[in-house]
Amino acid sequence: MSESYAFIGLGHLGGNLAASLIRNGFAVTVFDRDPTAVERLVALGATATSSPADAAARAGNAISCLPSPKVSEAVLAGPGGLLEGLPQGGTWIEMSTNGRDDIMRLAALASAKGVETLECPVTGGVHLAAAGKITALVGGDAALYARHRPAIEAMCARSFLMGPVGSAAVIKVITNMLAFIHLVAAGEALMLAKQGGLDLAQSYHAIVASSGNSFVHETESQLILNGSYDIGFTMDLALKDLGFALAMGEQSGVPLDLASRVNAIFQQGKAAYGGAAWSTQIVKLLEDAV
Ligand code: NAD
Repeated sequence: MSESYAFIGLGHLGGNLAASLIRNGFAVTVFDRDPTAVERLVALGATATSSPADAAARAGNAISCLPSPKVSEAVLAGPGGLLEGLPQGGTWIEMSTNGRDDIMRLAALASAKGVETLECPVTGGVHLAAAGKITALVGGDAALYARHRPAIEAMCARSFLMGPVGSAAVIKVITNMLAFIHLVAAGEALMLAKQGGLDLAQSYHAIVASSGNSFVHETESQLILNGSYDIGFTMDLALKDLGFALAMGEQSGVPLDLASRVNAIFQQGKAAYGGAAWSTQIVKLLEDAV
């Protein structure tokens, strides 16, 4: 019999991950503070519940995908939280992006209640998540990973066990730091092409075929060029993750000149367009400047 899962946090990313679980035949109980997000998943076959504790008690294992470590802590260990509902030996799979210190602290809270943690942040974006093609970065015990691998593979095309809890946070923060640097670089490249009088669609394809290509250019520049910017990932989330990267740099003594500059650019972007704007709109700073 396959494991059952509670899924808490049904936003741009979590909603797509929970939908993949359901599509692959898992029994999923859901909770989100936004009733519309819950309704979308109930329409696909999920069972609505009254709290994270209720969802976890019914399922025996829980997955969360939430916007900040503060919210993850409230959902895990606050009143009505997962730790009130999960049984001894139950698993908490945290798919939100956290800093290493945060996930290690939260895993210790879970462990004190007899609940094991698998950290499982993902990389690739909402569009790959919707297609079930996102990549999982896993931190935790190898046997626990093996136990929950069917569920992880129902949501993600690939998964990498990085080491103990905390190790997936490190690689996830690194990959996002690279992605934001690449996004700003792609924006600068597109603006140079535009100001140089080039056809932008042709420039896009030429860059894809060039040594300057990146995953971000390939997947995000089209959203910039078609004017939708619809990446499903906000400036606020980008600043959260850049903050984790800068903190890691400071703790480990690695100077992060590019990440610091990109963080300052995202602060400008948030001031100009708001924290809820798509992260791709960072390129508008350049468009507005020339
Ligand atoms: P989101 O804001 O779209 O979704 C968050 C969801 O959590 C919302 O539905 C919100 O209602 C719910 N929520 C907030 N507080 C809650 C609470 N106290 N109880 C219950 N539900 C609550 O965010 P997202 O884009 O889905 O990102 C979620 C996490 O995944 C973040 O850590 C983000 O960094 C990470 N992530 C996102 C993407 C992406 O492309 N969006 C990619 C990789 C990683």
